[in-house]
Amino acid sequence: MLRVDSLEVRYGRLVAVHGISLEVGDGECVGLIGPNGAGKTTTLSAIAGVLSPASGTIEIGGESVGGEPPEAIVRRGVSLVPEGRRIFTTLTVEENLRIGSSTRKDGEVDADIDRMMERFPVLRRYAATHAGKLSGGEQQQLAIARALMSRPRLLLLDEPSLGLAPLMVDLVFELVAQLREEGITMLLVEQNGRRTVDLADRTYVLAGGRIAMVATGVKDLEEVERAYFGGDAAVGTEA
Ligand code: ATP
Repeated sequence: MLRVDSLEVRYGRLVAVHGISLEVGDGECVGLIGPNGAGKTTTLSAIAGVLSPASGTIEIGGESVGGEPPEAIVRRGVSLVPEGRRIFTTLTVEENLRIGSSTRKDGEVDADIDRMMERFPVLRRYAATHAGKLSGGEQQQLAIARALMSRPRLLLLDEPSLGLAPLMVDLVFELVAQLREEGITMLLVEQNGRRTVDLADRTYVLAGGRIAMVATGVKDLEEVERAYFGGDAAVGTEA
């Protein structure tokens, strides 16, 4: 579904991502973890077309897409749940969901909105409320539901548990586990390494813009933690 090969991404002279390669197969839930500044959001932004790669290739469904704008990537079936949720706070919950379906031309949008409200009861309760009035956890549910409204082939989640109360973190991880059971293909960016490794089929550990290791299960956790807290973890380097 997704193949990233030797991807390099820069902000001016700063190289934030140094030639990383990763893959997400059909139906897989793949994790991408690492400390602040490791390059996780930069990687997702390049996949979503928000940033152009300096070099390397990105393939979605076997087709090369590097450099295409975000709308084209959405039309290819990729949906991003951005860090910080970025819902439209002055629109209602239902309007936010409709915006998520804007690339669709089928007649099942209303039925899907109903399904989302069934899955996330809080969204039905606040359907006509301005989304800015929702709590962080409720907004995160809305952000995920909005992304699902495009019926994505690949869902990109950028730190969905960030800044949430512990119960809401549990809910977000349960939700990701459910989506995985339903066969939704996902790339999950998280700082919550332990839970991500536990949940995902495979987890790439980023440090300093490079993949330090790939973890496949709980047995790898100690090594993951060494990679996390080891020497060159946090920052990009000048080109
Ligand atoms: P976080 O968990 O804090 O979101 P991250 O792993 O997602 O961290 P990135 O946000 O991708 O890391 O940042 C990677 C590197 O790129 C860091 O050194 C960061 O300071 C730098 N960086 C990120 N965004 C920009 C920007 N808009 N302009 C310049 N440098 C940036």
